Amino acid sequence: MNSTPANGDLLRVEALRKYFHFRGTIVRAVDGISFGMRRGATLGLVGESGSGKTTVGRMILRLAEPTSGRIFFEGMDITGLGARGMRSLRRRMQLIPQDPYSALNPQRSIGWAVTEPYRIHRIGKKSEWENKVRELLATVGVPPDAFNAYPGELSGGQLQRVCIARALSLKPDLLICDEPMSALDVSIQAQVLKLLQDLQHQFGLTYLFISHNLAVVERISDMVAVMYLGRMMEIGGGEAIFERTAHPYTRALLASVPSMSAERKTGNVSLKGDMPSPANPPPGCPFSTRCAHVMDVCCREHPTLRELGNGHFAACHLL
Ligand code: SF4
Repeated sequence: MNSTPANGDLLRVEALRKYFHFRGTIVRAVDGISFGMRRGATLGLVGESGSGKTTVGRMILRLAEPTSGRIFFEGMDITGLGARGMRSLRRRMQLIPQDPYSALNPQRSIGWAVTEPYRIHRIGKKSEWENKVRELLATVGVPPDAFNAYPGELSGGQLQRVCIARALSLKPDLLICDEPMSALDVSIQAQVLKLLQDLQHQFGLTYLFISHNLAVVERISDMVAVMYLGRMMEIGGGEAIFERTAHPYTRALLASVPSMSAERKTGNVSLKGDMPSPANPPPGCPFSTRCAHVMDVCCREHPTLRELGNGHFAACHLL
């Protein structure tokens, strides 16, 4: 592994790209994304479906290989790590899945599911696993007796808590939360969000919180990054992104959430039309085909990220 100058970030990605080759076409799912994540903080990664945010999470976990770019964990370049190196690192980076129903095997007990990481990584004594798992279940608000239950006997909210317990079993530093609320009832979402916040304080966890739900992201995130067509449109502290929104795409996203647009002067900038295909992105600004402020230059030149102050960046020719 190579070193990069330490800047205190737990995780940093630089110029990360993921291109897929499909029937003679290059699909630019992620196209040069960079960001850092402070230890113990939450970075909300937002954008519409197809913006590339899930692919970013999968590359960090190395479930998808980057086409180019680098990933640093505690200042060490882990981009070229082989299977053995990633095995020990994976204990420190865990995934909370989108759909707890499909993440758990209906034929296996909850106890089996949560002890699975111990079996895979050969951790601790088998005789101690049950007690550890019962404690973990209690920590995430599931009755310890659920150890012997099967997924079909638990509610969606309880299943997501079980997935969180499984992710916590290896005492990770970083949790990649991939749309963790999307399969849950609205009434349950707030409870799971509160649990994630409590666990972060209790264990000093760092979250990459991937979501299209801006209201949820606003509640949990210290930093927010906005992606569109595989590119970074705006990134900054949560207050900057939600109170001093700079990019027309972020404004349009906020305006598409009625409760948020009512509180903020987002203007009449609602999102119209569909996102273009990442196999055929427009020249210049990726948002040019839907932007209410599009200018000639936008269709020719790609805007680079410009700092607006205090670590708040946006990529737009207007700024
Ligand atoms: Fe709109 Fe142009 Fe800014 Fe892109 S660069 S967001 S098209 S104004």
